[in-house]
Amino acid sequence: MKKEIQLTIDGNTIQVPEGTTILKAAESIGIKIPTICYHDYCTANALCRICVVEIEGSRTLIPSCVAKVSSDMQVKTKSERVIKSRKTILEMLVSSIDLSESPEILNMIDEYEANPSRFPDAERREHAVIDDNPMFIRDYEKCILCWRCVQVCAEDAQYTFAINFSGRGYETQINTFYEKPLPETSCVFCGQCIGVCPTGALKPKREWLLQDGYQPEEIMLLTRTQRKKKTKSSARPSSGGSHE
Ligand code: SF4
Repeated sequence: MKKEIQLTIDGNTIQVPEGTTILKAAESIGIKIPTICYHDYCTANALCRICVVEIEGSRTLIPSCVAKVSSDMQVKTKSERVIKSRKTILEMLVSSIDLSESPEILNMIDEYEANPSRFPDAERREHAVIDDNPMFIRDYEKCILCWRCVQVCAEDAQYTFAINFSGRGYETQINTFYEKPLPETSCVFCGQCIGVCPTGALKPKREWLLQDGYQPEEIMLLTRTQRKKKTKSSARPSSGGSHE
């Protein structure tokens, strides 16, 4: 049996088993800490930092999804510093990424009163939609690089390793190895990456076509026969590769 650790979260003194994360300890007493990249069934990597909390004696804010509890820890989940940090993260995200299909993040922007115009000169993430297979599309303008899709494709679920990060710094994006079209990779089209994507960056192709105004019969034809997507207007030639 695991040793019990006593700590205080937002003034509540509790005991949780050793090894519990601060996020889960808070959750156990009904304190919800916001998360974006974290997913209950993926390995936590503390990439987005929205879950930071303040710990007495610590110089920096600490990501609660990975930090474990320790004896007599004093945690504040809603201090002024924490709120300011979360707000800034949200403002940076909304300044450069299309969050129009990220309802949870949009709710956080409202809740933290983040200003979407705070960084007007921020460079927007611009990518053409990648439509290279009959099953799903990749729209990396909506990608927040949360890493969930890569993890479920790898050791967290599928062990397929079809996708990973490519590029560095601002140019970082999710990609296939050597930027090959998905059908030329180890992808088995299990769809687990779509299931964990929080932003609509990965989407079933049928849903995407439906949103684009295609009729169900056309959609069935396009996705069953693997024919390339037809365009509604001649201005958008079908490429089977990228769609602007
Ligand atoms: S495609 Fe979706 S799941 Fe993958 S990193 Fe981007 S936002 Fe996360």
